Amino acid sequence: MSIPDFLVCVECESPCYIFEWKEGVLTEAICEVCGNDDPDSFVTPDDYDALAGG
Ligand SMILES: [Zn+2]
Repeated sequence: MSIPDFLVCVECESPCYIFEWKEGVLTEAICEVCGNDDPDSFVTPDDYDALAGG
């Protein structure tokens, strides 16, 4: 189980480097750009590529 280098905020599509990753689950994250702090509103870069590539 690897921790991603960063997450992508789905609200503003910015990379987010401030997050807590515990046992493979994102527990906390905050976006400095839009203030989003809902862990459900962040995805890993791989997941974001999957979403964007749809
Ligand atoms: Zn954001």
